[in-house]
Amino acid sequence: MNEDNSRELYDRALSVLPGGVNSAVRAVIEPYPFFVQKGDGGHVIDADGNRYIDWVMGLGPLLLGHDLPEPVQAGIQQKASEGPMYGTPTEIEVDLAEFVVRHVPSVEKIRFVNSGTEATTSAVRLARGYTGRNKIVVNQGGYHGAQESTLVEGDHENPRPSSAGIPQAFAEHTLPVPFNDEESVREVFEEHGDDIAAVLTEPILGNYGIVQPEDGYHEFLRDITEEHGSLLIFDEVITGFRVGGLGCAQSEFGVTPDLTTFGKIIGGGFPVGAIGGRAEIIENFTPSGDVFQAGTFSGHPVTMAAGLETLQFAAENDVYDHVNDIGDRLREGLEEIVADQAPEYTVAGTDSMFKVIFTRDGEAPKNAADVKNAETDRWRRIFWGQMKEQGVFLSQNQFECQFVSYGHTEEDVERTLEAYKEAL
Ligand SMILES: *Cc1c(COP(=O)(O)O)cnc(C)c1O
Repeated sequence: MNEDNSRELYDRALSVLPGGVNSAVRAVIEPYPFFVQKGDGGHVIDADGNRYIDWVMGLGPLLLGHDLPEPVQAGIQQKASEGPMYGTPTEIEVDLAEFVVRHVPSVEKIRFVNSGTEATTSAVRLARGYTGRNKIVVNQGGYHGAQESTLVEGDHENPRPSSAGIPQAFAEHTLPVPFNDEESVREVFEEHGDDIAAVLTEPILGNYGIVQPEDGYHEFLRDITEEHGSLLIFDEVITGFRVGGLGCAQSEFGVTPDLTTFGKIIGGGFPVGAIGGRAEIIENFTPSGDVFQAGTFSGHPVTMAAGLETLQFAAENDVYDHVNDIGDRLREGLEEIVADQAPEYTVAGTDSMFKVIFTRDGEAPKNAADVKNAETDRWRRIFWGQMKEQGVFLSQNQFECQFVSYGHTEEDVERTLEAYKEAL
């Protein structure tokens, strides 16, 4: 496989971009990432003209794949050609807000921002402002973007920043507990109950190998937060409009959070984030309330058009049936291959999310500790490259999940399963 152009581009990039990239995970694969020239349906074509079946899909945002349907393209192009943005409201922000409010029962009002990180940052500030409390409970192995309050590791007795540049004083207000562990949550509420502003959790851990909640876990979180006057925040940046269709993962689990953070799919492939929830809480954002929140690009017309047209297209077509069917086919095929060739590995996922985790601890992982010992080096140094050689693009890291889009076909599934059979 010729990679001359990607290598040259990375050489140039190393001189002007730290690590040669604009987001860390892209450089996980060594010696260099491939550069994409363009997308085509469920595929991407790299700078040297090589074609790959793409299961990364922008790391989540591309529900429809790379070929946007005509109404989505038209919506985006019209907004871009009319002048990109204005600093005063436009109708399309109201349209997208109304769509989300109609389809996600817990959302009565919504504020749009520009990334998932910005959404969780604002949601945490809102929860603190609304409750007058400082502490937030998060899950070990959960990911809520590149922000000070959630880049925290350790446990609730000994939280510490997981990145340089974050003061210990920030980490002290964050209490990490294992996912699916009711006992630990009870403990932190016993110890800090009156100081806990919110429990912030992904409904399904999507950035750590795909870990599903056990029956009753989210109901338990709902009850204990209510009991202590804390908020329950679902971070649906990955699962929103992917798991559970237009009702999101919360409708699948039948649990109503106070606040929900969105990102990825809700912007149809453009930079986006959003915080939705009970009107009485969301109204605490400025200007109606006193929790400061603002953004030059927030509610950007091109993003709003891409998000609205994408979700409307999904509402009117067989998008979720298609991606979930392909997800089932992939997981079933992978189960067989893994049982046969790598019984020490686990196939994880649901709906249009899937991943083979290079470890096994019982039937399915329950929390981060169950996948922590996955063979990360084998994934990135051996396996990922073997898949790439066969024309299959998987997420660069053992822990980030993979996504099916409307652009993927049966043939993509078959070719992908063949490649796994070779590489595992
Ligand atoms: C991707 C992600 C984020 C961060 O979103 P960005 O747009 O990358 O800032 C936050 N939470 C979850 C669950 C995510 O998957």
